[in-house]
Amino acid sequence: MANIIQLLPDAVANQIAAGEVVQRPASVVKELVENSVDAGATTIQVILKNAGKTSIQVIDNGKGLSPMDARMAFERHATSKIAAAQDLFNIRTLGFRGEALPSIASVAEVELRSRETGEELGTYIYISESTVKKQEPVNCAEGTNIIVSNLFFNVPARRKFLKADSTEFKNVVTEFLRIALTNPDVSFTLIHNDKTVYQLPASQLRQRVVNVMGKAINSKLINVECDTELIKVRGYVCTPQHAKKTYGEQYFFVNNRFMKHNFFHKAIVEAYSGLIAGDMIPSYFLYFTINPDLIDVNIHPTKTEIKFQDEPAIFQILLAGVKEMLGKCNIMPPLDFDTEGSIQFETPTKPASNYIPRVQYNPSYNPFNYHSTPITPTDSSFDPGVETTENAIPSTPGTSWRDFFVTVEETPQPQQTVIEEFIEQEQQQDATPAEANFMQVKNRYILTSTVDGFMAIDQRRAYERILFEQYLEAVETTQTAKQKCLFPETIDLTPEDFTIAEEIVMDLDTLGFELTQIGPSSFAIYATPADLNTSDAAEVLQNLIEYYKETSGDIKVKDKERVALAMAKAASGEYVGPLNDEEMRALVDTLFACRNYSYTADGKVISFAIGLSDILGWFR
Ligand code: ADP
Ligand code: MG
Repeated sequence: MANIIQLLPDAVANQIAAGEVVQRPASVVKELVENSVDAGATTIQVILKNAGKTSIQVIDNGKGLSPMDARMAFERHATSKIAAAQDLFNIRTLGFRGEALPSIASVAEVELRSRETGEELGTYIYISESTVKKQEPVNCAEGTNIIVSNLFFNVPARRKFLKADSTEFKNVVTEFLRIALTNPDVSFTLIHNDKTVYQLPASQLRQRVVNVMGKAINSKLINVECDTELIKVRGYVCTPQHAKKTYGEQYFFVNNRFMKHNFFHKAIVEAYSGLIAGDMIPSYFLYFTINPDLIDVNIHPTKTEIKFQDEPAIFQILLAGVKEMLGKCNIMPPLDFDTEGSIQFETPTKPASNYIPRVQYNPSYNPFNYHSTPITPTDSSFDPGVETTENAIPSTPGTSWRDFFVTVEETPQPQQTVIEEFIEQEQQQDATPAEANFMQVKNRYILTSTVDGFMAIDQRRAYERILFEQYLEAVETTQTAKQKCLFPETIDLTPEDFTIAEEIVMDLDTLGFELTQIGPSSFAIYATPADLNTSDAAEVLQNLIEYYKETSGDIKVKDKERVALAMAKAASGEYVGPLNDEEMRALVDTLFACRNYSYTADGKVISFAIGLSDILGWFR
């Protein structure tokens, strides 16, 4: 029988490989721009026609290609980046498989002009369908200028599957920004159909993030810096208030390469637990540096998932590191008054309910003068401050919320409006804090002035937060004061509720409830928390069990937190009604001494600020 196995012609092999590397204009942009970065370019320009379907041009000022290399570059597995299998483990460049250019040249027309640094003449090459049609010396700028046109002209089926220009362009932007965010020191331009879409000058990382995401993000960025033996993490997370319902501002980079990592994403989300509602996604820009031996880079050319050797350890490092920074900068605009020494605090007298536990107030606490507390990686989700250990991640000394408003140098923004200028002037005038004013709306919401606007606070939720932190401390550390009941009340529970009560009876005890079983599913209440009106004990307890049940599916909240939360909810349930100025001030002060004054423990908004820019926006 005749032999039937043959080697595929190169052009066919390249087309098959192209199926992996080149799926759409965005993949071409990615490969070309990464090559420019690898070539040490400091300026990279991307010029597209019709979302790249008609043409994609990338111009760089990198080291260029010699005439020989210019030709070699289009051969399969031709790469200058690895010479031996051994080198695979030491890759620091973005590309290394030598597949991109031949793949692209098999499904498009490619024109390349390149001049090596220091050479007088450059090389021009024209390739179509994997065949070099022309090569000659040319006068051109130093660096490389490559034009890829008519993508998939010879693979109509694939061309047909390209999406609308708007979609393809969006994909290009995604790839472009990932590279731009990894290389802030390189200047990038993206021009689409003769319109400049991005012009990103070389800058510091923070400036780059702001230039890419828009000026508004500047005040939302919280610096993250963790140095451990295993991994170094740098970058920014955004304030909880900046979290969004949709994905789009989640960036992990490892050794200067964008990656997706669901598990690490969960670590970040976990760090925000209690700070954002369950359906919100925090924004982050985090850069990992790790020994390449500890990650698997030899993966599919277009895949962005990367495997790490010790993922659980990195999870803990991220969780702890991000949580620490969030704890430090519970960012809200400063209130309009000085919290220090000004308050003679007493419990708000008689709000709507008559079982108001007393709010404890620490007069020396200044929420704006945060002392950093290093944390261990195994710390619980509501407890950012436990004692230092040797493994603790070093905190940045002296970081306060103010540091997070560090101004980013302005790039020339011709469109800056009169309003924005006005806001800037206002902000520069370092407003001297005046006495804060309080106003109550509908017996439930408190409005108060801030340095640059005002803040609205939900009175009941504020109270719930205060109680939650207090009760949590009680169940975790000390015994709260009990008051004995003169006439023990009995509480009859359903069998289901009775089981729950039994489960948490110890925690209830630390909160001040003394319960004794007196029937198959009933308790007698012998003591209640000292700050609880005894006559309401049974009702509070019943509500507490209800709330506790409600959080049963929430794995993010630990048992003790659930008890504290349920108790806080039960006890703050009626905290609506008229408050006088003193009471409002006391409540707001105490709220601002809480670890988190923006969200309740189950993620509901407590307070939000309206700044001058919002106000000016309304009156525009
Ligand atoms: P890889 O990047 O995996 O090595 P490519 O097919 O993308 O493979 O590129 C092949 C080779 O061509 C690279 O190794 C590099 O030497 C050279 N090259 C590609 N683009 C450029 C460029 N813009 N400037 C200088 N050299 C380049
Ligand atoms: Mg490459």
